[in-house]
Amino acid sequence: MLDIVTGHEAALRLAAFLLVFAAVAGWEALAPRRSRRFGRMERWPHNLGLSALNALLLRLVAPGVAVGVAVAAEAHGWGLLNALALPAWIGMAVAVLLLDLAIYFQHVLFHAVPALWRLHRVHHADTDFDVTTATRFHPIEIGLSMGIKCAAVAAIGAPAFAVVVFEVLLNATAMFNHANGRLPVATDRWLRWLVVTPDMHRVHHSLIPREMNSNFGFSLPYWDHLFGTYRAQPAMGHEAMTIGLELFREREELRFDRLLSQPFRSPPAVRTVPVDGRDAAEFVHSRQS
Ligand SMILES: [Zn+2]
Ligand SMILES: [Zn+2]
Repeated sequence: MLDIVTGHEAALRLAAFLLVFAAVAGWEALAPRRSRRFGRMERWPHNLGLSALNALLLRLVAPGVAVGVAVAAEAHGWGLLNALALPAWIGMAVAVLLLDLAIYFQHVLFHAVPALWRLHRVHHADTDFDVTTATRFHPIEIGLSMGIKCAAVAAIGAPAFAVVVFEVLLNATAMFNHANGRLPVATDRWLRWLVVTPDMHRVHHSLIPREMNSNFGFSLPYWDHLFGTYRAQPAMGHEAMTIGLELFREREELRFDRLLSQPFRSPPAVRTVPVDGRDAAEFVHSRQS
């Protein structure tokens, strides 16, 4: 079983991606949470194109590298879990938990270090928030994340099976928690004790800095509670809040080539002009609050 899973990592990940993507996209179509600023056809080909480029680059440059590091760590006895003789299922659970913690800190780091923020802001510059936002990361951020993940796998001594489970889980939860889908308030309230929900992660995509610098978790909600970065709701509510950054709000910034060049373009001296009246009102409000 373990060999089948780790040996077919790529196919498994693709199947899980397609399945979860279809489910979340269907949910967004049936029960949308917010009205869209731009149409799907204006954003999706570009966001998904970026995701396809990232998948292709990873396959070419470093196929299955995180699992490879896990196998090497086990063979050489590297890392915490390989030094402890824990029952396999406890080792699995601890590995998935610690990998998720590592991703939380990585996310905080990408907000804190200016050069890393330039890369990560490609994710935040999306002025809509939906399942394709989850796939919108700059290839250099994806490469650096992979390096950090490999270091974490080696330090933890995570089993290869746990690494595959973690990667599939992280992809699935990222698509779920970027959904422009509506959940009953009561369901959201109990669900966010198990997993980061769309209403929880949407706060992190707010234009307001104090909201953007909260809810860093991708899969598990506990780290934000533990480290004091949890914020329950956006001040303006989910329908009225402004998603994105003050930068890169123009329609042309949705384009694939513009997404790739965003990290290397300096912020303009003058703040970009909002595209429509609704945004202008929101800008004024967000600057007052
Ligand atoms: Zn972020
Ligand atoms: Zn996000």
